[in-house]
Amino acid sequence: MSDEVTEERADEEEDAQDEQADGTTVPQEGEAGPHSGDGHGSPDKSAKQTEEEPAPTRAEVSNYEIVEHWFNVAAERLELPDDVAAVLRSSYREVQVQVPVRLGDGKIHVFSGYRVQHNGARGPYKGGIRFHPEVDLDEVRALAELMTWKTAIVDIPYGGAKGGVNVDPSKLESRELQAVARSFMDKIEKVLGPQRDIPAPDVGTNAQVMAWLMDEYGKLHGHTPACVTGKPIALEGSYGREAATGRGVVQVFKEAAPEIDLDPSKATFVLQGFGNVGAWAGRLMQELGATMVGVADANGAIASSDGIDAEELAAHVRDDGKVTDFDSDAEEIDPDDLVALDCDVFIPAALGGMLHSDNADRMRCRMIVEGANSPTTPRADEILNENGVFIVPDVLANAGGVVVSYFEWAQNLQHFRWGEDEVNEKLGGTMRRAFGEVAERARENDTPMRPAAYELGIERVVEAASTRGYI
Ligand code: NAD
Repeated sequence: MSDEVTEERADEEEDAQDEQADGTTVPQEGEAGPHSGDGHGSPDKSAKQTEEEPAPTRAEVSNYEIVEHWFNVAAERLELPDDVAAVLRSSYREVQVQVPVRLGDGKIHVFSGYRVQHNGARGPYKGGIRFHPEVDLDEVRALAELMTWKTAIVDIPYGGAKGGVNVDPSKLESRELQAVARSFMDKIEKVLGPQRDIPAPDVGTNAQVMAWLMDEYGKLHGHTPACVTGKPIALEGSYGREAATGRGVVQVFKEAAPEIDLDPSKATFVLQGFGNVGAWAGRLMQELGATMVGVADANGAIASSDGIDAEELAAHVRDDGKVTDFDSDAEEIDPDDLVALDCDVFIPAALGGMLHSDNADRMRCRMIVEGANSPTTPRADEILNENGVFIVPDVLANAGGVVVSYFEWAQNLQHFRWGEDEVNEKLGGTMRRAFGEVAERARENDTPMRPAAYELGIERVVEAASTRGYI
């Protein structure tokens, strides 16, 4: 696409009406949603401050507004009464705690920790814990709601929750990180438990952090492996959990490929983010025969039309390497240009809001499989749909992690262990079934996959809540 056309499209966008084809309004820059802002309080200024990382242009809406938008679209189509929608829209419980930790400089630093339990109609609350300097209540609230719909869409017996601490783990020593994890658990353990709310890893946390959380919970309640998932194998973690989200992304990609007449073994793909989700998705895509032609992490991006070896890059990153230091024929590119690379499939696997109104029109892919949570703003989604891009939404595409977390929890409650093949096979069955159900509804309703997925999830939560007599 020429620059002229891009500029023309940008002008048209400015003039464009905010009304979508489905009759709902796409939130625009500066429009505050009911929960926008920084929650009950700003991140504590005494928290260890981090250097600014190069961030691509910002999303025009918050993560919360993204989730709310899709909830509203589905609620309208399902003709949910306003009072029922109000219950489903709000969180059941929101906890904000002080996380004071003495760091290596000898001073006490006070971080802010959050746990939001959105809806528990279908079972115990379930959702990851994020350690990231930009974590705030608004973001955690959005991610908790997303978990409610996600667990319902893949039909596992959980509600939705999320947690986080506004800390940058890359700036902390291992023992400092351990202190943050333990201090956070001490403050929130009263609202957790295997039958109440079960955390898991997310951005900035991993199996080691889960081990510390489990150990701290165990000091107060006795050994309780089912209190967190995503644990190391040595501590009753499940085989296949670490790879599960990336594996689920690739499993739904295989289901989606025929929708655009794509042979998975000949596909080219770009990964935005090369952490847990990105690195596994990249390696498993490569196993299918697909070629990675671009990849980015928080430090920068590289591209090569001849392909970048995902397996070797994963080993490099495991040894604390950056994507841009990777020794290969790939060239370093401006991270903002990653979205404009020619490819069949673009896989966002970093943070929310990275595909937005300013960059969606530059995308050259035919399909997006959302490994990250809320990577696409509603305006970007609209542009991409107009441009014929097939999108497998986050609430379906990245559910593999919580599915295997469910398997881990089920194994822990019985103190049994399943083999890796069994876990992967059961995961594949769950993801294929969920993809089929969402695709069928999308066909019936003649909508993209995202509204269909939200409708399915919301309907299931409504059914559980009303059968309980809660609404
Ligand atoms: P992670 O911390 O392991 O990796 C995040 C990656 O994103 C890193 O490579 C980081 O460098 C990169 N990144 C950060 N800012 C970036 C930027 N501006 N540009 C490009 N890359 C950037 O986190 P993760 O667990 O892989 O999670 C990634 C996404 O997937 C998140 O949105 C998370 O909520 C979602 N998710 C994770 C899981 C899970 O099981 N871990 C499950 C479901 C959804």
